[in-house]
Amino acid sequence: MRVVRTVLELREALDYMRMGGHTPVGFVPTMGYLHEGHASLIRKAGEMANTVVMSIFVNPLQFGPNEDFSSYPRDERRDLELAEREGADIVFIPGVEEMYPEPIRTKVSVDSLTTQLCGASRPGHFDGVTTVVSKLFNMVQPDYAFFGLKDAQQVAVLRRMVSDLNINVEIIACPIVREGDGLALSSRNVYLSGEERTQALVLSRSLRETRKAIEEGTVRTVEEARKLLESVISSSPLAVIDYVEILSFPDLETLEGGSLLSDAEGEVIMALAVKFGRTRLIDNNVFIPKEVHALV
Ligand code: AMP
Repeated sequence: MRVVRTVLELREALDYMRMGGHTPVGFVPTMGYLHEGHASLIRKAGEMANTVVMSIFVNPLQFGPNEDFSSYPRDERRDLELAEREGADIVFIPGVEEMYPEPIRTKVSVDSLTTQLCGASRPGHFDGVTTVVSKLFNMVQPDYAFFGLKDAQQVAVLRRMVSDLNINVEIIACPIVREGDGLALSSRNVYLSGEERTQALVLSRSLRETRKAIEEGTVRTVEEARKLLESVISSSPLAVIDYVEILSFPDLETLEGGSLLSDAEGEVIMALAVKFGRTRLIDNNVFIPKEVHALV
């Protein structure tokens, strides 16, 4: 595994792999502090590509002024061990100076898909994401790029960006990896106190219980589903809800509260953002209501 820190070194390492016929190239962008969720993306990349590139870059552009950019957890040595163990070939770890040698004057922005959910609570966040991912795509020029459905809105936004701008990469969305007790893995879980972590289980529980109620037919409308999610989350005294939403996926369009879930065409997302103390956690479930009802 090669560790490179400059764009020039990255291009040289990639040229070497491409000249040796080690294509296609798969790319896994991350902010580091790697866990099993990231590992699953590297493994998936290894199945589909002959060169696996991972980047580790905590991107200042996607953090708001009062967010956790400076305190975001970092552990390069442990990250490199995990990357090597999981089969990454090239790890790109640029500093902020390498990514942004001058104040950036060009930004990539996807509209409409970024005004709701996390886009509403974190203004400018998705512009930071689409800008850095565009830069990384230009540097790596991957055939495939792997993203987790943990950040489902990010997947929707990046798919649209790639399609709108004719970027020659296929976005592969990978399932959410969870702890045994249901908590979605996140680098930010380290911020949680023991009590917060216990109470944070309401997120996955609310999604599970609501999915079950939809499958059993006891919850039929969008509003009933939203209410059930909210009531399970509110059973945790430490939970402060940022949003609980049910939207079409990947268009992220509002579904009428009174409408039947079974009338929704295609996929639907139940998306949550909830704060426990100073830690904001997200979780979601994407499903096809028509198929859920077909099981009943
Ligand atoms: P991050 O380092 O948090 O920016 O995440 C890098 C990539 O890993 C993104 O595509 C995330 O969606 C993905 N990821 C983070 N947590 C998980 C998880 N629990 N399961 C699957 N993918 C994840």
